[in-house]
Amino acid sequence: MDADGFEALLDRARIHACEYLRRQPDRHVGARASRAELLDVLRAPLTEQGEEGGSVLDLLASQGDRGAVASGSPRYFGFVIGGACPVALAADWLAASWDQNAGIYATSPLASVIEEVAGGWLLDLFDLPRESEVGFVTGCQMASFTCLAAARHNVLRRAGWDVEADGLCGAPRVNVVVSAESHVTIDVALRYLGLGTRALHRVETDVQGRMRLDRLRELLATLDGPTIVCAQAGNVNSGAFDALRGIGGLARGHGAWLHVDGAFGLWARASRTHGALADGIELADSWATDAHKWLNVPYDCGVAIVRHAGDHRAAMTSAAAYLIQTGGAERDAVDWVPEFSRRARGVPVYATLRTLGRDGIGELVDRGCACARLIAELLAAEEGVRVLNEVVLNQVLVRFGDDDEATRAVVAAVQRDGTCWLSGTAWHGMAAMRISVSNWATSEPDARRSAAAIAHAWRSRGRRFHSRGP
Ligand SMILES: *Cc1c(COP(=O)(O)O)cnc(C)c1O
Repeated sequence: MDADGFEALLDRARIHACEYLRRQPDRHVGARASRAELLDVLRAPLTEQGEEGGSVLDLLASQGDRGAVASGSPRYFGFVIGGACPVALAADWLAASWDQNAGIYATSPLASVIEEVAGGWLLDLFDLPRESEVGFVTGCQMASFTCLAAARHNVLRRAGWDVEADGLCGAPRVNVVVSAESHVTIDVALRYLGLGTRALHRVETDVQGRMRLDRLRELLATLDGPTIVCAQAGNVNSGAFDALRGIGGLARGHGAWLHVDGAFGLWARASRTHGALADGIELADSWATDAHKWLNVPYDCGVAIVRHAGDHRAAMTSAAAYLIQTGGAERDAVDWVPEFSRRARGVPVYATLRTLGRDGIGELVDRGCACARLIAELLAAEEGVRVLNEVVLNQVLVRFGDDDEATRAVVAAVQRDGTCWLSGTAWHGMAAMRISVSNWATSEPDARRSAAAIAHAWRSRGRRFHSRGP
């Protein structure tokens, strides 16, 4: 391998990538190759001599169309995934070329400063306290882990306990309050932090999946000592926002730390029309969000934001004799994230924020919400189809024939058809189809075409199941 090899291989990768991206909007949205087929092509004995890099790239590229899910397609509505907008993908390539270890300032002044600036822009965009610190992590799971580690440090410090030095054995008990519908990753983060999940206080939710304020008030009145409350901006099924201003007031009154999971919902703050949903979110102590969902940067990129720098740093920092940490204005990422060595994942965030600007990001959010509303309206007009949630953001829950089996059959039929892709969920005891619009490229025609494909699947397949019902 020589230095010239870069150019030939990168050109080859560019051609393959462009081919994939060109086809993506029109191809079947699901993966079509089975595990057996993929293994058949990809599994080979590891050779002694190695193979030519270009042929290896060709082999990988040849499987992209069949083995990959077109999750960057404008009609991919599964989970909450998001695509990669062009400048984000291009900046990610640049970051990969630089191959910086963004762990400390000394290993990459460039990455450090880019992330410092991008973090500041995010605080402006979300209008969160400007003294907050921002860490770029792999996803919202790790963002919540980071924020809740700072929370654990803070509430125990105030109870006279140094959890970083003394651990949790013998520590005062921490009350952790979550929503009955909080995302599973909150539970996982609490597990990683040794807080466990059995003793969580789960607050009942309302019909839209919002934490009930009256129940939270009653619960807090019964709790003493260190307390962490986890609220959410954007229920993963309905998109509903907890009453953040009310929750913020209650948490403050109780002296509790308030953490908000805003994996996709925090982006509503960038929109003039949808920002009010997150009213009061600035009262929290920490916020977790994703850039790889609605900002449409490539995987993997989440953001941890913590108001209290001292607690954030105490929970995360690493110090070792051989590390050169300046202790000055220069920013070492190790102080704010769990990773030690890490890639410069703030680079595509910087490029995307700078390219889109506030208006562009607001439009990105509004466009997704408008498409979600349009799909909901078109489907609700079909006989036997019911939209289960108030479509306040980008999430739509749909039920067919008021029947679990019919609903699952329609989801399966839509997935097979491949015009669009979405998944099923369970919503308040019922099977539902779950549609999430979070791709930068989804347009009104995509929404119409997808709604038509879903309606067709219901008319031609789902009703057969329905007609068998009581
Ligand atoms: C996606 C999601 C998460 C987890 O984020 P990852 O980026 O997958 O780690 C957490 N909370 C909500 C509400 C989500 O939608």
